[in-house]
Amino acid sequence: MSDEKIRAVAMLSGGLDSSLAVKIVIDQGIEVVGVNYSTGFCLTDHRRKMVGMGAEIDPKSVRNEALQAGARWRIPVEIIDISKEYMDILTNPRYGYGKNVNPCIDCRIFMQKKTLEYMEKVGARFIITGEVLGQRPMSQMKQSMHLIEMRSGAEGKVLRPLSAKLLKPTIAETQGWVDRKKLFGFKGRSRKPQMELASKIGLAEYPQPAGGCCFLTDPNYARRMQDLFSHQDKKTLTTEQVMLLKVGRHFRVDNRSKAVVGRNEAENLLMESQAGDRIRFNCTEVVGPLTLLEGECGDKAVELAARLTARYGDGKQLDKVEVKMETHDGGERVLTVEPMDDPECDRMRI
Ligand code: SF4
Repeated sequence: MSDEKIRAVAMLSGGLDSSLAVKIVIDQGIEVVGVNYSTGFCLTDHRRKMVGMGAEIDPKSVRNEALQAGARWRIPVEIIDISKEYMDILTNPRYGYGKNVNPCIDCRIFMQKKTLEYMEKVGARFIITGEVLGQRPMSQMKQSMHLIEMRSGAEGKVLRPLSAKLLKPTIAETQGWVDRKKLFGFKGRSRKPQMELASKIGLAEYPQPAGGCCFLTDPNYARRMQDLFSHQDKKTLTTEQVMLLKVGRHFRVDNRSKAVVGRNEAENLLMESQAGDRIRFNCTEVVGPLTLLEGECGDKAVELAARLTARYGDGKQLDKVEVKMETHDGGERVLTVEPMDDPECDRMRI
């Protein structure tokens, strides 16, 4: 073998598992480069956007953990934006959704395909992931891992250092690039073995495994998405709509229209930036939220959106509140409406 170092590409989220996987392989003399995919549904990316809009959020919760891990292990990390291509995966997943609207199998196939391309580009020989057998019900069972590899064309090329001893040897092991004996046989949902390993190798700071970092696994987000799926042809979904599902309170006003009411100034600003041709509502005499109404908005829908705006403004106790509606082409109208009561709001809430 020549002296040239073997190179591998790590699919790096920067969480505990992928950080450990990278370190294990680096310690075997492999040169590692990291890739991190931005799907448009990452909670951290969204929080960062909200900070840009003035929201007060803990700075730790908005940092890019993949870049942090890259800096920690001194490896380059490339963030790859796949958000445009991702809409098709989201709306039309061949292998369906998980518990919410998470198309994890299709998502992993797509990311592995992309990583294979990247591997070619940088002259790497194999892929590293932090996957742990049995840790996630949809994408980390033996069968689905195999399916993902087959469909992406990466069969045998994906090394999972944390569970390798429980899996078929990969090219990296059979070729002797990495020593299988120095890999691990972790499985299941407990993070204890990984935490023990982290403390052994001196990895003190890593993000705590939260309920997930992907909007698509969030039940509230999923409910809103499913509402859109059942009222609109999936193919006509726009990125603005998907973005708006992340903010505000959502109300199904009627079969053809829905309203989104901002919960704070940062959300109002983000909604304004994504308003497109939606009708905007604001209170004129009291402080209140921005409401957006989308769809085919008849008079009844307009009135309901105005009443919702009044309900979530400072005039909610008043008998009547003035609400201005503005259309994207400059049209304006002021409506005087009764703020909606809570039971009525709840009936429409998505
Ligand atoms: S949770 Fe599933 S859908 Fe979301 S990024 Fe991970 S694999 Fe993809």
